[in-house]
Amino acid sequence: MGENILVDSHVWVEDPEIAWTHGVVLNLKGDEAEVKTNDGREVIAKLSKLYPKDDEAPSEGVEDMTRLSYLHEPAVLHNLATRYELNEIYTYTGNILIAVNPFQGLPHLYDAEVMEKYKEASFKELSPHVFAIGGIAYREMINEDRNKCILVSGESGSGKTETTKMLMRYLAYFGGHTAGEGRTVENQVLESNPVLEAFGNAKTVKNNNSSRFGKFVEIQFDDVGRISGAAIRTYLLERSRVCQVSDPERNYHCFYLLCAAPPEEVERFKLGDPKSFRYLNQSSCYELDGVNDAEEYLATRRAMDVVGISETEQEAIFRVVAAILHLGNIEFCKGEDADSSSLKDEQSVFHLQMTSELLMCDPHSLEDALCKRMMVTPEEVIKRSLDPLGAAVSRDGLAKTIYSRLFDWLVNKINISIGQDSNSRRLIGVLDIYGFESFKTNSFEQFCINYTNEKLQQHFNQHVFKMEQGEYEKEEIDWSYVEFVDNKDVVDLIEKKPGGIIALLDEACMLPKSTPETFSEKLYQTFKNHKRFMKPKLTRSDFTLVHYAGEVQYQSDQFLDKNKDYVVAEHQDLLNASKCSFVSGLFPPLPKASSKSKFSSIGARFKLQLQQLMETLNLTEPHYIRCVKPNNLLQPTVFDNANVLHQLRSGGVLEAIRVKCAGYPTNRTFIEFLKRFIILAPEILKGEYEADVACKWILDKKGLTGFQIGKSKVFLRAGQMAELDAHRTKV
Ligand code: ATP
Ligand code: MG
Repeated sequence: MGENILVDSHVWVEDPEIAWTHGVVLNLKGDEAEVKTNDGREVIAKLSKLYPKDDEAPSEGVEDMTRLSYLHEPAVLHNLATRYELNEIYTYTGNILIAVNPFQGLPHLYDAEVMEKYKEASFKELSPHVFAIGGIAYREMINEDRNKCILVSGESGSGKTETTKMLMRYLAYFGGHTAGEGRTVENQVLESNPVLEAFGNAKTVKNNNSSRFGKFVEIQFDDVGRISGAAIRTYLLERSRVCQVSDPERNYHCFYLLCAAPPEEVERFKLGDPKSFRYLNQSSCYELDGVNDAEEYLATRRAMDVVGISETEQEAIFRVVAAILHLGNIEFCKGEDADSSSLKDEQSVFHLQMTSELLMCDPHSLEDALCKRMMVTPEEVIKRSLDPLGAAVSRDGLAKTIYSRLFDWLVNKINISIGQDSNSRRLIGVLDIYGFESFKTNSFEQFCINYTNEKLQQHFNQHVFKMEQGEYEKEEIDWSYVEFVDNKDVVDLIEKKPGGIIALLDEACMLPKSTPETFSEKLYQTFKNHKRFMKPKLTRSDFTLVHYAGEVQYQSDQFLDKNKDYVVAEHQDLLNASKCSFVSGLFPPLPKASSKSKFSSIGARFKLQLQQLMETLNLTEPHYIRCVKPNNLLQPTVFDNANVLHQLRSGGVLEAIRVKCAGYPTNRTFIEFLKRFIILAPEILKGEYEADVACKWILDKKGLTGFQIGKSKVFLRAGQMAELDAHRTKV
């Protein structure tokens, strides 16, 4: 940059506060320029750090960033900010949709009329919209007989879940059955959202309705394009939240909903004020602005009806939720024997009684399961007491296990109830999964989340970059390479077997003497020369990974514990013996062969889940939606430049723009192209032209330039396909 900058040029100049500001060049001195900014300051900047500003850019911005005359970071940012101010929250970058969270209901943006309008229109004929992405995915699935997926990403609170719901609503509208009331497949698919949100979402500092699990919904269609089934897969529910909430966050919504249930239910479960439960009162936040938990409770019950959860099952589900609250209130004190524990007071006795009643298990067995452990030695089986701290850990472990089993049950039930269409050849998958995370302290959860994002980024890279380049090479068309940083090395560092971080973690978990320090030491040794791995100074168990989106320092102290995936045998036996078939069903007997402590790890299982997800994605054609959070205040109309820039970088949007524009974002085989556009030049049918000549004919006829004719395909510049389509609709 900088080479075309002269005195009087309009330029973008870096600004410590708002990232980029614009101004006019007053003077040039060597490799520096003096710039008068539009707010009246005079600043000196390196020429190489200045970017030209397009003076003739439309004041309302452009709908597709690939149409910006100068394509660079400040222009992209300015375009998004300009549009956001006009409540235009959607913008394309080629085929990627960028959605900036409005943090307010925008009237008429999603109503039936808009849906209808987008249903009739071809892609890019109308303003950018999430419906346009849903529409093109659906139409291409039908017309071109391809499976599709729509990948929605972005940081917490950026609007992924809302976007996903909008997409699902639109696909249901397209592929719904006309008699759309009650328990149709599409209604079940839609109503699965409130159910999963009640049990899997919570208020966090970043989002009042934060999804604490990842979700992939595969919507299946029949031969005439109607929704015929669906499969929901979920990833890594945050278990720790069940017992540990920090101010001003909340636990999972369902706990508060149940406390606000109609009086007879609250009485039956001996609930009441959420402030009286330890799993809820660690934080002083109980209510959410604009949300009425009592109404939400009823809405959740109605949604459960729609997705086919019976009255009896619902009763059992909320009984289990209530039991977890009571369980959390059981406290322990030192028992009679050294290192043993017993119930602390009358209150604890009451809550133990309630827990066992609700779970329909024996109260003495429950107390034993919390306070004692069997030790199996070659000679004998010893019952060992746990000290009060050990008993509390055991209690919280039980609460987390029950809750995650309950969540898995819900997902499974919804899947069974909606039903899978095994004959379906067509599907659209929609992925709503946590974005990249980097906090002050980062533990195993962040490690898994960021690992997911590395995999998805790799997929994005492969799709956008490698596929394009590969295609250009195959077709032998003109193409100058765009350099980009591949992230395969980080992915390998994490998942390679043997020798990757997950494999080393599993190894450490299986060795009885491992500590966080020995595990970290092993990492330091193994990866000391790896350029994506660093040992931070002044720590003995932290490690830093250089992710595609930036460096993250992980605290490894809890990695070993959090990676171990087992249910304490005493807990398993207790609940398997429950008189309630729902509860015992959550803890089915273990298969004989694996009942002896065979090690299974969360990390390895997650890796497998991700692999399966990637395999599914690789069989489909992707569409990308990048959600952007305009500010951390969760307020409408505030657009924080620096914050947004960071998200555009970590979401790969800026990289994609560079490549997309340098290349040819659209291509079609000659046959595909002719099938679609022969209507623009019917005279071709009269002559005997080669396919490539015929394609060129059409393009020339419509006055397009800059396209390329490859060996079997036509390569179009950004926007040309839409231009041709527009001609087509006019014919
Ligand atoms: P997380 O990763 O924490 O689950 P998320 O990306 O799924 O976050 P959402 O829950 O979808 O974020 O959005 C956060 C909030 O932003 C919503 O509760 C809603 O208030 C607002 N919001 C998001 N998208 C829209 C939209 N299109 N229109 C109006 N409000 C929106
Ligand atoms: Mg979400």
